[in-house]
Amino acid sequence: MNTISQILSSPGVHLSCEVFPPKQFSGIAQAAKTAKEIAALHPSFMSVTYGAAGSTPGHTLAIARAVAETGVTPLCHLTCVQSTQAHVTEVLAQMESEGIRNVLALRGDLPQSGERATDFQHAEDLIRFIHEHGSFCVGAACYPEGHPESMSRQSDMDYLRRKVDAGVDFLTTQMFFDNALLYNFLYRALRAGIEVPVCAGIMPICDPKQVARAVKLSGSIMPPRFAAIADRFADSPAAMTQAGIAFATEQIVDLVANGIRHIHLYTMNKPWIAQKIFSNLSEIIG
Ligand code: FAD
Repeated sequence: MNTISQILSSPGVHLSCEVFPPKQFSGIAQAAKTAKEIAALHPSFMSVTYGAAGSTPGHTLAIARAVAETGVTPLCHLTCVQSTQAHVTEVLAQMESEGIRNVLALRGDLPQSGERATDFQHAEDLIRFIHEHGSFCVGAACYPEGHPESMSRQSDMDYLRRKVDAGVDFLTTQMFFDNALLYNFLYRALRAGIEVPVCAGIMPICDPKQVARAVKLSGSIMPPRFAAIADRFADSPAAMTQAGIAFATEQIVDLVANGIRHIHLYTMNKPWIAQKIFSNLSEIIG
């Protein structure tokens, strides 16, 4: 299996996909089938998210295994803030024994109880820990609009620089719906001395209910053009799906036209949506 660094340094445009594991063990077979359908589109790599609060690492690994069986390189997400060093060591050892070479190192959501984390405070701590405990290509998250908890975009960028310096090989962005936000972020990142490849996260919104959730999750600014689409097609799921796919496709075309080479598609485990987008871009991604 390649590392994500190797993949991203190869020529051309890279379109990768994200899938998530099921909450219940009983959902693994279906999620693995979904992941394989998406893998059949030949994305550059596929990331598999980590359950909230790090509750189901085995599920992430099971889906990553299904991805690897197709020949597509898997990237396992790993969160830390609600975990211990002993637990993370165990998960890393299991990843290594299964030939997983790529990890997206994340802090994860803070516990709702307000309890303070002890072993890991920030993703930066996890990144150092991973490098001390194995040989992995390590990615991290970044936020074109700033992380929702951060005091300012500048302080978020300063912490991002620290995180990258701790040993990050590539970054993946939170979803965004206005490409100008990404271009501005990339400019500021370069000015901060961040030179690792950045995968631009695109989420096709095909369900009006997703709009509010996406805004809440990411703090994303929803461009008026998209708000109008969501408003107009809220009652027609088929029309909303078509409009959401068209919007995401247009975003990607604009990114590629402006020289962005790494795009990460949040598929929401919907192979038919990923298929449409790949097909819309067949001559553009090449
Ligand atoms: P950090 O990099 O630790 O940053 C969190 C906050 O702390 C920011 O405001 C930052 O500015 C600040 N900060 C960072 N370092 C320091 C420091 N040294 N000192 C003081 N402040 C600091 N969640 C999941 O549960 N599972 C997933 O699989 C998952 N995948 C994701 C994938 C992507 C691409 C993205 C963008 C997010 C994902 N998340 C996932 C959500 C993520 O866990 C949350 O956004 C979380 O709130 C922050 O994680 P982080 O790794 O960016 O944190």
